[in-house]
Amino acid sequence: MKSKLLATTLATAICLSTSAVADLQSNVVVGYVANLFDHFHRNPELSLVENETAERMAKELRAAGFDVTEGVGGTGIIAIMENGDGPMVMMRADMDGLPVEEKSGLDNASTATQTDPITGNVVPVMHACGHDVHITSLIGTARNMSARKDEWSGTLMLLVQPAEERVLGARAMKEDNLWERFGTPDYALAFHVSSEVVTGKINISEGSPYAGADTVDIIIHGVGAHGAAPHRGKDPIVLGSQIVLALQTLVARELSPRDPGVVTVGSFHSGTKHNIISDRAHLQLTVRNTSPETRKLLLEGIERIAVNMGRVAGLPEDKLPEVTVSKEGVPPTTNNPQLARRLKVAWAAALGDDAVVDIPTKGMGAEDFPFFSTDPDITSVYWAVGGTPQADFEREAAGGTPVPSHHSPLFKIAPEPSVRRGVESTVVALMTLMGD
Ligand SMILES: [Zn+2]
Ligand SMILES: [Zn+2]
Repeated sequence: MKSKLLATTLATAICLSTSAVADLQSNVVVGYVANLFDHFHRNPELSLVENETAERMAKELRAAGFDVTEGVGGTGIIAIMENGDGPMVMMRADMDGLPVEEKSGLDNASTATQTDPITGNVVPVMHACGHDVHITSLIGTARNMSARKDEWSGTLMLLVQPAEERVLGARAMKEDNLWERFGTPDYALAFHVSSEVVTGKINISEGSPYAGADTVDIIIHGVGAHGAAPHRGKDPIVLGSQIVLALQTLVARELSPRDPGVVTVGSFHSGTKHNIISDRAHLQLTVRNTSPETRKLLLEGIERIAVNMGRVAGLPEDKLPEVTVSKEGVPPTTNNPQLARRLKVAWAAALGDDAVVDIPTKGMGAEDFPFFSTDPDITSVYWAVGGTPQADFEREAAGGTPVPSHHSPLFKIAPEPSVRRGVESTVVALMTLMGD
């Protein structure tokens, strides 16, 4: 039974590959999606004020036959296509640009400026993270799934998210009663285009492609005194320094060496003058994890070390360091391993064995997608789509211009292969879950 099912899934995926590629290669669709990419790339908008982008997305999704609701959690959009019995699958695309002046040298480089709603400053804006690839691909997917409506059943939810770069948008949409209003999906999917992956490749991890992140503040109460009379005070700079060093033992000595974690003290402020012992120090930390267990170990460890180092310094119980964990934290993005394996098989069958890679993530960057996939837990997979041509990596390896990173003014994604792979990988994933 199982192998028959698998064979059917593969067969579906394989025929899909031929027809999906044919659809994508027809001049109409490629031309259409290319124009749309060009439009979005020239017209990026900052987090929280993606007004024109959202308007265009809503129009395109309606034209593709979806039932569209705008203004969800700000500029967010939910587009639904009900197509009989079957699972409800959500696919997310984030749409915000960044306050970066584009220096990519591309013909369609952005010259846009916008007033930042948070700082009030007028700043240049650029799609320097490739979210234009995500939204363009989402329209390609919408049109593709609409055209093959008789080949699948279930409910397809396409979600357009604002303010990913400020880690605000997913939470805002969720808090706008997302699941109560539109239904809780059985599956949640998303991809990010990656400048670190070769075009045509899909990079998928069975673990955690993005870290969880917390911000922590530690306030140290000292006793102020003359700098020449340290015995009269409690120096919060000395105590703060001891805390900073002791915190380094959490990852080095308490966390299993096979579990990744980061404790970075990014800011340490205290004092006003050479000869004054301050009565206060303030530490600001970023703390990264890839599992709830690691998160608990690190956050509890920070509290334990800070408070007890206060005791070591002889502070009274009501003056011990205060540790505050911000509510703004994000959980790690954790792929469901069974679903990741299932999609790997489907992608390899549809797009070729060499299309699927598993390159381990090196950094501990975070994403706000897990606000959609946790609380309640939803089976989810997040993958990466290659955005840099092989020739660019070869040029870099030969000592030439390095491949620019995300958020760089030089950031440059090859749009056609990225959008194409974005649509293909999404359609294959959706057909694997909803195909008849
Ligand atoms: Zn980014
Ligand atoms: Zn991004």
